[in-house]
Amino acid sequence: MGNILCGVDIGGTKLSVALVTDDGKVIDKCLEGDHTEKSECGLTDQIKFNIRKLLKRNNLTESDLCGIGIGCAGHIRFSDGTIITTSNLKGFKGYPLRREIQSGFEVPVILDNDANAQAFGEFRFGAGRGYEHMVFLTISSGIGAGIIINKSLYRGFTGTAGEFGHTIIEPGSDMMCTCGNKGCLMAVACGMALPHLFAKKLHEGKISKIELPADFDFSKVDGKLIKHGLDIDDPVSQEIVSEIGHYMGIGIYNIFQALNPQLIVLGGGLLSWGDIFLDKIRKTFYELARDMIFDPVEIKLTEIGPDAGVIGAASLSLGKC
Ligand SMILES: [Zn+2]
Repeated sequence: MGNILCGVDIGGTKLSVALVTDDGKVIDKCLEGDHTEKSECGLTDQIKFNIRKLLKRNNLTESDLCGIGIGCAGHIRFSDGTIITTSNLKGFKGYPLRREIQSGFEVPVILDNDANAQAFGEFRFGAGRGYEHMVFLTISSGIGAGIIINKSLYRGFTGTAGEFGHTIIEPGSDMMCTCGNKGCLMAVACGMALPHLFAKKLHEGKISKIELPADFDFSKVDGKLIKHGLDIDDPVSQEIVSEIGHYMGIGIYNIFQALNPQLIVLGGGLLSWGDIFLDKIRKTFYELARDMIFDPVEIKLTEIGPDAGVIGAASLSLGKC
């Protein structure tokens, strides 16, 4: 067995396969965007083909690999490597992806939820190096998370631990979550909340500096539009970022009380909002935690960057995860 890691990140728009060094540097990668159209067998073949293609063009063989780690959004049963459900891939339900990939390789294949994979990658190669207990949160159109306890991923009974996006933060909220409940962290504090929040502020009479066409479709309000709003000092965008930061601060406070981590690492597209967002998250958290913090708790940004998904997946093959 070698020491090169292989990572596979099955995303909603891209399938990324990469060879990664054992200290987390991408050696080579390939990206494809047609994987969501494929059948279960078609995707399995595509992944196997891309792994072999990368090995060949880097003059490597399977014996140079330590293992193959796969990250996939959705509910993954880690114990038997099954995709229980995933919204990214049509028709994938109860599919034993790990077994199917493993049938083509001798080295160990590991399948986990993409947020768990990113959390482990951050722990091994990023902001979490040197810590024993940390929680990783990715805030983009939804909220994903992974929990590291005693230097290992904590998955819970069926592998769905860390679904902090569905913890209820605002019981009286009218904002609906994908799970069917109202007031989940994910419903009030990520990209999913933006169309509703923006339309609501305008309805309340707030004036935005963002120039929008008369027939603007508010379902198109996303993190990029709000970032543009921040860049032009738009008060509506500033209010929205402050509100989402406040709810994230409450969410992190609840995590702190439940798990007592040393470190919270934040990643995901909405962090491009910058200090105004991060400062509000930290302010709310530290105000709530006050004198209940007996040892320092840090809130840091991800250090891995745009390849976090595939590097995280590769890190799973290091074992002890
Ligand atoms: Zn929910």
